Amino acid sequence: MFIERGKGPYLYDADGRRYIDYVCSWGPLILGHAHPRVVRALRRALLRGTTFGAATARETEMARRITEAFPSVELVRLVNSGTEATMSAVRVARAYTGRVKIVKFTGCYHGHADPFLVQAGSGPATLGLPDSPGVPPESTAATLTCPYNDVPALRSLFEAEGPSIAAVIVEPVAGNMGVVPPAPGFLESILSLCREAGALAVFDEVITGFRLAYGGAQTLYGLRPDLTCLGKIIGGGLPVGAYGGRREIMEMVSPLGPVYQAGTLSGNPLAVTAGLATLESLAEPGVYETLEAKGRTLESGLLERARTHGVALTVNRAGSLLTPFFTPGPVSDYEGARTSDREAYRVFFRAMLERGIYLPPSPFEAMFVSLAHGPAELEETLEAADRALAAVAAARVPAGAGRREVDP
Ligand SMILES: *Cc1c(COP(=O)(O)O)cnc(C)c1O
Repeated sequence: MFIERGKGPYLYDADGRRYIDYVCSWGPLILGHAHPRVVRALRRALLRGTTFGAATARETEMARRITEAFPSVELVRLVNSGTEATMSAVRVARAYTGRVKIVKFTGCYHGHADPFLVQAGSGPATLGLPDSPGVPPESTAATLTCPYNDVPALRSLFEAEGPSIAAVIVEPVAGNMGVVPPAPGFLESILSLCREAGALAVFDEVITGFRLAYGGAQTLYGLRPDLTCLGKIIGGGLPVGAYGGRREIMEMVSPLGPVYQAGTLSGNPLAVTAGLATLESLAEPGVYETLEAKGRTLESGLLERARTHGVALTVNRAGSLLTPFFTPGPVSDYEGARTSDREAYRVFFRAMLERGIYLPPSPFEAMFVSLAHGPAELEETLEAADRALAAVAAARVPAGAGRREVDP
């Protein structure tokens, strides 16, 4: 698809077709496309110049808003993408601990920096790539992996490697193998194992920050990681990222400390303007209850219709993030996500697209619901899903037969 424009919950492609959009640029557009508040603020900002290579009051305001929303973040640095945020957070964690090994969970995605392209979710999971050509083995030699939600496996890893682990990085609610919420106690165990071993816990809240709650997943679960990565929503649809955490750790970043990190466009005035306008809307009362209700409507509607058509469906959901897995489930890790019937998802995706509903073109991505998705759009989506699930039932093949890679 080539996109011509977006407005509210809708995308319009180059052939003039309209779609209800559940990708929302993979997360940033929690207010929908071209939200009037964001557009107005950007128009004003644009006339004042696009980048200065020096500090602005607006980026300080963004930093203040982030530190207020995330109590674990005392000091924050703005960058240009989620990739830069995770890459830089790991660098500072390694410097702070004087160790090199990092632990990531299979199926989690932390951007495309070399050390994270091991058993990564999102694109690599969709394409079935365990890792990427072009990444030297030395770059991933210090990356240890562990299944998501597997506390015993993580404990064993710490028993074997604890003194050399610099950091554990985790999506506190996984969104890049499809949505997989943390099992009770999983995140708490990460924090306590890290504390015991002198490693740092890094929450990658690039999707979940300002999405699940204003203060992200850590506020929802009442946890304080050492470092936090943000992106997506805080740029309001423009390129941005941020990493921050405990003051004594972040004070190691240049120019206060010796850990080098910089960026020509970091804290870009347009990006922080779009981000601030978005955060202002999200600070209004009732926003997260509304998002939760929209997510719940889709979840229960999909499950009900799947039952009607005799299609085995598991819907994983956290607030306005959800993934329909074509499997009896439950799905609690990457192994489980991969039991989702790809052929069924392909049929479902196609049938939805034909009816003007744009879903993620992969069974291993989250659907993103925005505040712009109103009751009429949700209703239209579920009506389309009814027909699409009927198509899945009609196309059903014996288990194991006819499986194909998703070809959106
Ligand atoms: C999208 C994403 C990233 C990477 O952000 P980019 O801005 O695409 O570089 C990192 N971590 C998570 C959890 C993400 O979803």
